[in-house]
Amino acid sequence: MAWSRNRTLSTALVTAVLAASMFAGVKEAGAYSAEAPKRVADGYSVAGAVGGTSAQTPAWIPAEAEYLSGGRKLTVVCAATAQAWVTRLTEVAFPASEADEYYGFSLIRRGEIHLSPYVCEGLRLGTVASTRRSHELQVAWSVNVLLHESTHVARFTLDEKLAEACARIALPIELHRLYGVAYHGAEMRRLTTAAAWFRSTQAPEYQGGTCPTAGG
Ligand SMILES: [Zn+2]
Repeated sequence: MAWSRNRTLSTALVTAVLAASMFAGVKEAGAYSAEAPKRVADGYSVAGAVGGTSAQTPAWIPAEAEYLSGGRKLTVVCAATAQAWVTRLTEVAFPASEADEYYGFSLIRRGEIHLSPYVCEGLRLGTVASTRRSHELQVAWSVNVLLHESTHVARFTLDEKLAEACARIALPIELHRLYGVAYHGAEMRRLTTAAAWFRSTQAPEYQGGTCPTAGG
């Protein structure tokens, strides 16, 4: 597998990565989460062409992000390999040495969502009941990341608390929509609990927010 890291996240990895991935180019460190989105807001643009879709980015993933973003046309790119992810992070001035700590980022104005190999794999693992069961933390967090990034690009917001709050609220709905997980079953409880744990490891700027209703 291109993704060299053991699938079982260590606590340290979780802490670090989380923030990053989810967040408009957000990494978990406090300084960073504010910084990365600002680069986006300031019109920072990625050098060169965006990777575009590929075998690593199944068509349903960008389609889902667009649905979650209220129909906004988006480019969603799954990094094919750990090295490709490092390269992509470097292009937007995130430190390559911390690639394992980033799950994804968004270029809000451009309507681009970039997802780590871990997240894209997690989304795929969720599509089959058996692999969803054996990778619940990865699946739950990956869907959460997709929801978080989609919130950034849908609402043109850099607000991490808001993005994460909206992801938290939407997670059961999305798990049901994507994978048919029953709303009140044991599997839903396990998945949302796993995501809640992952969320709890994030920096304070991702926690305690509220998700305004659309237009509200
Ligand atoms: Zn974010």
